[in-house]
Formats: sequence, structure tokens, C-alpha cells
Amino acid sequence: MEEKTFDIAVIGGGPGGYVAAIKAAQTGKRVALIEGDYMGGVCLNWGCIPTKTLIASSSLLHKIRHAKRFGIETGSISFDYGSMKERKDKIITDIRKSLEGLIQSHKVHIIRGFAKFDSPNVLKVEGESGLLIRAEKIIIATGSTSREIPAFPFDHQKILSAKSMLEIETLPKSLAIIGGGVIGCEFASLYAEMGVEVTILEAMDRLISIEAPILSTALAKALKAQGVTVKTNAKVLGIDASGSTCHISLEGEKIEADLTLVAVGVSFNSSNIGLDKAGVLMDERGAIQTNEHMETNVPGIYAIGDVTGKAMLAHVASHAGIVAAINATGGNAKMHYNAIPSVIFTQPEIASVGLSLEKALAEGYDAVLGAFPFAALGKAKAAAETDGFAQVVIDKSSNQILGAQIVGAEASALIAEMVLAVQNELTADCLTETIHAHPTLSEAWMEAAFIAQGSPIHYPPQRR
Ligand code: NAD
Repeated sequence: MEEKTFDIAVIGGGPGGYVAAIKAAQTGKRVALIEGDYMGGVCLNWGCIPTKTLIASSSLLHKIRHAKRFGIETGSISFDYGSMKERKDKIITDIRKSLEGLIQSHKVHIIRGFAKFDSPNVLKVEGESGLLIRAEKIIIATGSTSREIPAFPFDHQKILSAKSMLEIETLPKSLAIIGGGVIGCEFASLYAEMGVEVTILEAMDRLISIEAPILSTALAKALKAQGVTVKTNAKVLGIDASGSTCHISLEGEKIEADLTLVAVGVSFNSSNIGLDKAGVLMDERGAIQTNEHMETNVPGIYAIGDVTGKAMLAHVASHAGIVAAINATGGNAKMHYNAIPSVIFTQPEIASVGLSLEKALAEGYDAVLGAFPFAALGKAKAAAETDGFAQVVIDKSSNQILGAQIVGAEASALIAEMVLAVQNELTADCLTETIHAHPTLSEAWMEAAFIAQGSPIHYPPQRR
């Protein structure tokens, strides 16, 4: 078997792995990036980018449908889902191509195939390459896949994962979504906008239960306004997909839908990569254990991204990739999880960072909240985007911004200001002393900070 030697080998070319490979190669090290499927991982090929491409279509559809309030007559509106999917496929293919070029421009050696540990510093690459890779340092970035429920496994015809859902060519009349987490809610909003009858079945008592309760309430209200049926405390017992539709059994109830999307979290891609041969430890969920340097228990082996089971988001994986690459090339960097933006691309968008009021109080902070409604912003009125609010959570004694939540137009972009604030431990004064452009939606942060300090400007005085 052919053997090649590198300073660093990265397993997995998703947003964690390829960023780690580029960062490591910038130090002059010889770096191999091993990928068994398409470059870009779930995020580019079956996650962030395809969903956001389709959501861009559905958002435009939403705007056109509401054009009359801007004084625009459109006549009857129609759309072609097939063309929307074609556009999505083309965008992904284009990005994939340019991503490979980018990686190669950084002198990273791309190796095609599926890598497994043979020993702590040797990988066997199966598939196209069929070679042995010896590397002083190895970074594991193998990601995760949609969790399958044994009682109703994916058939990818009528019981779909997020990946197979993105491949449908025509829209169903009705769609049941099991799981009211981020994926479930984004797909619900997307397809409801396109006229599909969507029902979400969520086992917990609220949607997006890892977020602040106020965000769950706002999201449920927004989804209902889009025509989505939301059933919480809904435990799915089984699905009969043997006929032309899906018959979904819940406790005491049956639901029928053309298709079912199962979006109940992820399984970690850690079971078939020979971790036992390397001696790398996992937790009981199958997530690889790491310290703040992204080191596993085996010296020289690092793990990043979804496979580590912490904050499973593309941007976290990329950041962890940079941390791991710095450490693997002789530097010293630490991973912090306290200022991670979370964005949900529903209609309207939802975003958060840091602590909610509930979590801040539970952690013992003397926390207070300032919330400002979009309806009180001139720009929101001008743009007919008055649904939503921005709120900041601050620590009363130090005035430090502990967290922020936002629901409304542009929430995905607006949260960036608060990520910077939480990451850098800024205070509410930093927000109120910063001149925010008028008229913009970003003024909501400044106004929310004034309210949290008890001195609202564009809002009536509050009783405290
Ligand atoms: P999730 O963990 O966010 O949500 C899964 C939901 O399914 C939970 O609310 C859970 O209570 C529910 N559930 C579990 N078993 C159930 C059952 N048997 N019946 C009914 N409900 C059940 O997972 P997800 O939505 O599948 O997303 C997977 C990962 O991808 C997450 O880590 C998520 O953060 C990430 N992601 C992020 C984005 C984004 O940031 N915009 C988009 C897509 C995915």
C-alpha cells in the first residue's frame, strides 16, 4: 500500500476541517485534507447553504405576496419549486468548485477517500485513494448525520431526513415534521410559505427548547401565522408509510401527511473511523471528548465540530478548526463557548447570543432585561417589518451585557453587534454611548440597553 507522510492530516472537509487545514497550511506545514464525499460537508451540501438558498426563494415569495402594502400590484403570483431546487443545486455546485480551488490555493493536499485510524498517527484511506497516511498531528472533523429513530427509520421516499427532503422535486400537499428544533422549524417556515400544509410534532412542551422561552413563544406565533399546525408534548409512536401517504401514530391520535421529515437531532460520525485503534475516548453519546485546546485524550490528536457534541453549528466548527490548527502547529489557543451566535432562519428570523434572562438568573446573576419592539422603529415601519423585538440581558451590578435575543427582519445580521459585545464583555453603556445609524433596525439594541438601564428614550418610562 502506498504511504505518504504529512505534518498534519485533517479528516473531513466540512467547515471545521477545511478551515483547520487552511490555517495549519499557512504556517508552512505539509497538510493533508481527507474527504470521502463532497467538499464542504453537510453545511455546504445538505445544510446551511441549500436551506438558505430555498429560504431566499420563499422569503422573496413572501415579500411579493405582501407587495400591495408598498403600493405595488403584482397580479396573480405563481412559482415553480423545480426551478428553485435547480437554482439551489447550481449554487452548491458553484461554491463546491470554488471551495476546492481555495483549499488548493493554500497548498493543502486534498485526498479523496474515507479515512480510518490504523494507529494514533497512521490513517488508512479507503476508496479512491487506497493509501496510508502518516502524520505527526491528526485533526478529526468527521461531523454528524441526522439521527434515525429505530421505530420509523428513514426510507428517503416518504420518511425523509433533512438531506433527502432537500432532494424532493415537487412539493407535497402536506408535510409532518417530527422535531420542533432548528431544522424542523426552518423547514416548516420554508414549506408553509410555499403553500404546503405543515404540522410540527414536538416531544417537548415548546419549540426550540434550548432557546429562551420568549423565543419559543414568538416562533410558535409566527409559524401559526404562516399556517403551520404546532403540536407540542407530541410523542410519535410510529409511522405507517406502506400506502401512498404516511399515517403517523401519536398517543391518542393519528395524523396523515404525504411526507414526513424526521428532524430529531444528530448522531456523531465517530463509530466507524477506528477510534479504538487510536485510543480516542468518546462520551456515552458517541461524541469525542476534547479539552479547551480541542485536544482529545491522545496527544497529537484533536477533534473539532459536530463530532465533539458541543454547540453543533458550522461557525463553531470553523472557529474550533482555527483553535485546533493553531495548537497543532505549536501555538496556544483556547476555545470559548460563551459568545456563540445562534440563528434560526424562519419568517421572521430569530437569533440569540449568550445568556437568556432565565439562564442568567439561574447562574446567580442579578440580571435585568431591556426589550425594545420593532414597531417603535421608524425603519421597521418604513420597511413594513414591525413584527419582532430586540432584548438585552445585563448584569445590574457590573452593567455587563450577558446575552441578547432578537426576533424580526435581519435578525441574522443584527445579532453580530451583540456577539461582539458579549465576546468582549462590553457593558450596556457601550451600547448607549455608541452612535447607531438612523433609521436602521440596529437602533433597537441601543434602545433596549437604555430600557435595561431604566432610562428609555424612544419608549415610555417603565415601572421597575
Ligand atoms: P435539535 O436538537 O435542534 O432539535 C430536535 C428536536 O426534536 C428537539 O426539540 C427534540 O425535543 C425533538 N425530538 C426529539 N425526539 C423526538 C421525537 N421522537 N418526537 C418528537 N420530537 C422529538 O436538532 P435538529 O433540529 O435536528 O438540528 C440538528 C443540529 O443542526 C442542531 O445541532 C442544530 O443546531 C443544527 N442546525 C442549526 C441550524 C442553524 O443554526 N440555523 C440549522 C439547521 C441545523
